[in-house]
Amino acid sequence: MDNTMPAAAGTHVLPPLPYPYDALEPLIDAETVQIHHDKHHKKYVDDLNKAELALETARTAGDYSLIKHWEKELAFNGSGHILHSVYWAIMTTPDTGGIPEEYTAKYISWYFGGFDAFKAQFKAAAAAVEGSGWCILGYNPAFSRLEILQSEKHQDLTQWGVIPILVCDVWEHAYYLKYKNMRADYIDAWWRLINWNEVEKRFIKSARGTLPLTVL
Ligand code: MN
Repeated sequence: MDNTMPAAAGTHVLPPLPYPYDALEPLIDAETVQIHHDKHHKKYVDDLNKAELALETARTAGDYSLIKHWEKELAFNGSGHILHSVYWAIMTTPDTGGIPEEYTAKYISWYFGGFDAFKAQFKAAAAAVEGSGWCILGYNPAFSRLEILQSEKHQDLTQWGVIPILVCDVWEHAYYLKYKNMRADYIDAWWRLINWNEVEKRFIKSARGTLPLTVL
């Protein structure tokens, strides 16, 4: 997503996949990626635009009779668009994404008590999301550190202000064609797709201005 300019109401666009549909094979199949990106993610973008435009119309008309509905749509679809944009960006072809880089590695070890402890908590949290949702490693500017959060749907259970830098989509649409009910197997596979260089870039960008990364 282009975040170099403020997004006017109703102007969000589906970001192109950063790789071909089959780039994540055999861990995530091409058909799943295609449907997930072209249909599911696109629907969140479309419905976010729709909600923003409906609210613009409501402001012009001074008619807030459907305010609760459109605010809910804004939260659900806006969060869906943001999380999917991160999800595609932080994956790469299997077992080519390297290892956690300098600041990511340092901050993970410092707070979670080592990389293995972080990995165990992240996988457990992802597997245990109730219903449709996400597991998220995010940077919280309020606390100047990373945290692992679950999210139900796209928008519930957050800590306000957290910037997601590593996200695992555990909605069934992310894995059901290949993994059926075996969510934990999908999470293990997804782990091998992480692009740690992209995660490092996102951590540095999210922390910039609020945290001197050399503090640890
Ligand atoms: Mn999804």
